[in-house]
Amino acid sequence: MSPERHSKTSLSAVLLDLDDTLYPESEFVRGGFHAAAKLLANRLSRDADELFGLLLNQFQCGVRGSVFDAVLFELNVPRDPHLIDELVQTYRSHEPQLTLFPDAEWLLPMLWPCYGLGILTDGPAEVQRRKVKALGLQQRVEAIVYSDDFGREQWKPSSIPYLELLRRLHAEPSHAVYVGDNPKKDFVGARRLGLQTVRIRRPNTEHSHVEPQPGFEADHEITTLKDLPDWLTANTRSERHAA
Ligand SMILES: [Mg+2]
Repeated sequence: MSPERHSKTSLSAVLLDLDDTLYPESEFVRGGFHAAAKLLANRLSRDADELFGLLLNQFQCGVRGSVFDAVLFELNVPRDPHLIDELVQTYRSHEPQLTLFPDAEWLLPMLWPCYGLGILTDGPAEVQRRKVKALGLQQRVEAIVYSDDFGREQWKPSSIPYLELLRRLHAEPSHAVYVGDNPKKDFVGARRLGLQTVRIRRPNTEHSHVEPQPGFEADHEITTLKDLPDWLTANTRSERHAA
């Protein structure tokens, strides 16, 4: 049998998801519903707070992608595709008021410039850019990649946006980690490329109860980003080489 030696590959780059990893996406949703409720209140001559409550209630009951339809149905308002489009546009284009999770606020200056630091985010690019601006993240990381810039079909888990962010951080996949919250798409593509993966599992966020399908798991799981720096320091990848 050949003798083996071990070498260590240190992590040099940290790639972060945005929604529900760095800030609570529910803040964006609430802001969007407030804007849409205001528009709807004007159109229907109803109270904006009442309409906001109805929108939020549908969302909290698990409705996704058809909240406006559901509320119009609830109010016995005939479905009007033009009004739905207007509501969606108003929701997406509102100027969000967002705040980072406290552990994310703490983490960013801990990591950069010790590590190459970047953000990779899905979602309509103009919406994600407004979120980044509201959070002041442009100045706090080295690079930001919006997968939507490459087309809807290149959203995660497509390898294209990961490779673009790695290129901009001058990092090899084997020296990088992706940190995200959604096991449906955050880890499978990253792992395929050879990145390590960490799931941040925050209570009361959209994906906190999702159990991953085989192959969609992260390599490691944490409940606060405060645990990330120690894990990065301790975590080196042992690689076996026949001597
Ligand atoms: Mg996310």
